Amino acid sequence: MSDFDYDVLVIGAGPGGYVAAIRAAQLGLKTACADGRETLGGTCLNVGCIPSKAMLHASEFYDAAANGAMAKMGIDVTPRLNLPAMHAQRVDAVKGLTAGIEFLFKKNKVDWLKGYAAFTGKDSVEVAGKTYRAKNIIIATGSSVTPLPGVEVDNDKQIIVDSTGALELAKVPGHMVVIGGGVIGLELGSVWRRLGAKVTCVEFLDQILPGMDADVRKDANRIFKKQGIEFKLKTKVTGAAVKGKKAVLTLEPAAGGEAETLEADVVLVSIGRRPNTDGLALDKAGLTTNQRGQIETGHDFRTAVDGIWAIGDVIPGPMLAHKAEDEGIACAENIAGQTGIVNHDVIPSVVYTWPEIAGVGLTEEQAKEKGEVKVGKFPMAGNSRAKTNHEPDGFVKIIADAKTDRVLGVWCIASVAGTMIAQAAQAMEFGATSEDIAYTCHAHPTHSEAVKEAAMGVTGKPIHI
Ligand code: FAD
Ligand code: NAD
Repeated sequence: MSDFDYDVLVIGAGPGGYVAAIRAAQLGLKTACADGRETLGGTCLNVGCIPSKAMLHASEFYDAAANGAMAKMGIDVTPRLNLPAMHAQRVDAVKGLTAGIEFLFKKNKVDWLKGYAAFTGKDSVEVAGKTYRAKNIIIATGSSVTPLPGVEVDNDKQIIVDSTGALELAKVPGHMVVIGGGVIGLELGSVWRRLGAKVTCVEFLDQILPGMDADVRKDANRIFKKQGIEFKLKTKVTGAAVKGKKAVLTLEPAAGGEAETLEADVVLVSIGRRPNTDGLALDKAGLTTNQRGQIETGHDFRTAVDGIWAIGDVIPGPMLAHKAEDEGIACAENIAGQTGIVNHDVIPSVVYTWPEIAGVGLTEEQAKEKGEVKVGKFPMAGNSRAKTNHEPDGFVKIIADAKTDRVLGVWCIASVAGTMIAQAAQAMEFGATSEDIAYTCHAHPTHSEAVKEAAMGVTGKPIHI
């Protein structure tokens, strides 16, 4: 193969990178993937999606036992928390899945180059002191926590932590302050609230979950408040001091004003994530980043430099594992001469709290900016399965184009909203109208019937309210 070591060299083995590497190898390309972590799978498998879901799932059971949800169904239990065992099952899940990627690399003959890569030219990188040349290089270096000036994270001390530290707390904090009412703050805040912590969430904006539909944001706030999370909206944290085993935060109204202090046993900094490009020596490849530090690409994931591609959290778009995976597949297919496409208008997003919160496509506010819309809404309290399961909270909302009836966005809050949103994404991918969904037979009794009923509400009326 001339003087190239590889057809494709992927930098980063997260869900973007490892999927791209496997797909490229499946397509007959000689492939390597570099990552300096001890295990494959990136943020998602090691310190993100998987460990957080392991803690969410386990703490959900504990909460159901502790808050009376089980008693409602005739199961009287008094739970006793075994936190080390809960952590052990989290670690086990991570171990199993990251080892699974190593197995898939071997099976597909992807070489794992152990170490962090830096460009030495436009078709070469150095990893652990060795230089490799590749016809194509995919940058899939992901993202890491955005720091908050004045609030220094030290995961070892377990007082001011980021998401990685918050996954591993050795004891349930008395009072946890979450900075940022986004996905991480609400998911990990929920874990520790369920296990017994008092949780206060400080959010800069006037509402939690920015980017989501306004009805969803409002109802989610109400539900989390009911569960016991206290919100300080329109508030910013301007500093933190560690005093003994506690942190003292200084808060100010977002618009400016009098400062106050707040004491916490643990502070979680979750104000967003930023792309990883430090240490890549992008300049040696002739690449630059945009103002947000991201690498820009075209629809086919080519960067400005021929032969260099980029995918996942390091490029613009939502920072989601499934978006990174789909981009990885499409990018590898494009390198192999096929036509790999990702429809960025239909990327579902899910918050794995109780209940779950999910959406795909446009919010009602965004849709209205583009033209006239019709909206159908159905409360989960009217859904027979949700009612039977004692899950009264939430709703499904469908936003359709007023003229064509084409579905533009679907939003839901429901115990299994993350599963329900898949049918909405598929319908939108097929260009469905609300009528298509309304006239699709949905199994009874399922939570998904609420999607059908919301669709019926777009042009007519649902049956069960
Ligand atoms: P990453 O997964 O970040 O992987 C990038 C990899 O590149 C890393 O392993 C890193 O070590 C490596 N790397 C970086 N620089 C170099 C270099 N120079 N050389 C070699 N390797 C390098 N998303 C969801 O869709 N669902 C969820 O439930 C979810 N939960 C999350 C929970 C938490 C706590 C966090 C933090 C994130 C969560 N996410 C979730 C987001 C998700 O993890 C990311 O969107 C996803 O991992 C991005 O994939 P990626 O491949 O672009 O990058
Ligand atoms: P986020 O962008 O979801 O939320 C950050 C929040 O912090 C926002 O509400 C923002 O207004 C607020 N904020 C910013 N600066 C602040 C300040 N100084 N004081 C108070 N509030 C402030 O970010 P995140 O929760 O850190 O998550 C990072 C990324 O990880 C997200 O983009 C998300 O897509 C991804 N993620 C996804 C999942 C999932 O899919 N279930 C789970 C976890 C993380």
